[in-house]
Amino acid sequence: MNCLICFDELQVGDTWFSYLVPRYIKAVCAHCDQKLQRIQGVLCVCCGRMHNTSSSVSENICEDCELWRRLGDPLTCNRSLYVYDDEMKKHMNRFKFRGDVAMAKFFGLELRALFRHSFRHYTPVPVPLSTERLEERGFNQSEILAELLQVPFHTLLARRHTEKQSKKSKRERMNTENPFFLSNEVVCGKKYVLIDDIYTTGVTVRQAASILRKNGAADVAALTLCRG
Ligand SMILES: [Zn+2]
Ligand SMILES: [Zn+2]
Repeated sequence: MNCLICFDELQVGDTWFSYLVPRYIKAVCAHCDQKLQRIQGVLCVCCGRMHNTSSSVSENICEDCELWRRLGDPLTCNRSLYVYDDEMKKHMNRFKFRGDVAMAKFFGLELRALFRHSFRHYTPVPVPLSTERLEERGFNQSEILAELLQVPFHTLLARRHTEKQSKKSKRERMNTENPFFLSNEVVCGKKYVLIDDIYTTGVTVRQAASILRKNGAADVAALTLCRG
């Protein structure tokens, strides 16, 4: 078996232990594994951000989320697997722009474990791309991530084409009009978990969550591969 990241042959002595994944699954070599920064330790109960141990935090909720809650947060919580650092950026480029299958397989192992751990009773809903963006890329990375969970997912949302979120400031993002709209019926009282690749400001998943909540969803959370 080969490392899913660097394709080197896995050595017998290689051990790759994750607290979520059974020990017998060897997916990446020790060298590649070392370079991945997983999100763990004390997290903000809402957005899943790692707490800086030196900061004094009340109730394990970060300042951003405290503000969201005061405004009436449509999102219950977000959990992410990895810190979006330079190493992860390289992997994401392989996955996002080339649709790399090995990368997807590796992400799948860990994402599935986190889904089963935190969102077992939720139905996955991939965050959609606009038709224009989908044509440009050829696939929706969030839908690939949702497929990796190996449970049925619902395509409930569609997206209007807008300027790239990454080109806007945080304030601009907060004030933008909601690009999402319903494309299928929400089952009233059901719990949904939005699937996306990166959680940056949290605006995107909250815009999507607010549509689902307004249409009868009991609870909307987010599962994202990386945390910016
Ligand atoms: Zn490797
Ligand atoms: Zn937070």
